[in-house]
Amino acid sequence: MNDLTKLMMSEPEYEIPYRDPEKKELADVRKDRIEKSIKIIETALKPNRKACVAFSGGNDSSVLLDVIHKAGIKPDVIWVDTQMEYPKTEKHIENIVSGYGMNLHIAKSNRTPREQWASTGFPMLGKMAARIWMQKNRGKMGFCINVSECCRGIKIIPARFMTKRLGCSVQITGQRGSADDRVRGMRNVKDGNLYFQVKDKIWVANPLNGWTDAEINGYKEKYNLPEHPARERGAKTIGCIYCGGGSQYTNSGYRVLRKTWPEAWYKFMVTWEIGPVILALKYKIHLHHINNAIKEAGGLKYLAENRPWLFDFTRMKPILGYNK
Ligand code: SF4
Repeated sequence: MNDLTKLMMSEPEYEIPYRDPEKKELADVRKDRIEKSIKIIETALKPNRKACVAFSGGNDSSVLLDVIHKAGIKPDVIWVDTQMEYPKTEKHIENIVSGYGMNLHIAKSNRTPREQWASTGFPMLGKMAARIWMQKNRGKMGFCINVSECCRGIKIIPARFMTKRLGCSVQITGQRGSADDRVRGMRNVKDGNLYFQVKDKIWVANPLNGWTDAEINGYKEKYNLPEHPARERGAKTIGCIYCGGGSQYTNSGYRVLRKTWPEAWYKFMVTWEIGPVILALKYKIHLHHINNAIKEAGGLKYLAENRPWLFDFTRMKPILGYNK
């Protein structure tokens, strides 16, 4: 048995340091915060721009849709079916949108996620982390990773295509720049409240710019906004169940999927054979050697059934992730 196989056969399940999972920060959303968001929406609609909303059904976009409703406008709503959704998502989206009397349009990439990944790389680590990893490892590991292109191919392009089909020139999104984390803070500076997206020739408005997690939670609670059904089974985020963006953290989506929807997890890891890619990233070893070690350990199916935690993270020791 080679050293890598021995490592896989002896590695215990990683014990995540305890943090109170129920502790959710709530903040009362100031009236002027909501007014400012409405002002951004009104500015985005001038002069005579037709708007639509990019809606995911997650917390931010649920708050966004409610704020838009308060602004008294009824734009078309676009939801992108990523083909990686929890069950009942579509019904949930339809109920919310029709509840506001708005029209729902479903966009979908003409590529399946697997076709997208085969073409541009697997969505693992994060946008910046994947870029840095590729700069160091291009052509050396037997696979590519690329979060940005996956998002663009699966979500952004279908949504923008639908935006144009509907004759809209501005897309309202739930993107937030906030003090909560560095990446969001940078987006705030980079994009602002309203900007022209040159690549797609479209205006993008971000009325929730500056809102914090606590304010989003507080608003949801105060106005009793509906919860996505996947939360019941323990999902931390909504949409793209196979996303490995953040898989180096303790709140990796792979671990969450294993606990919340084991059948989908198994399909991803074993049937689609993505498990070896996760191990190659984690152990920093070429995919070819990983596949040999898996074979020696009894096969991918055996490992997934008997040592499933091996596929939880793309780091040996995951970084402590934020509570969501
Ligand atoms: S969230 Fe992840 S899986 Fe979904 S489109 Fe973006 S990169 Fe791909």
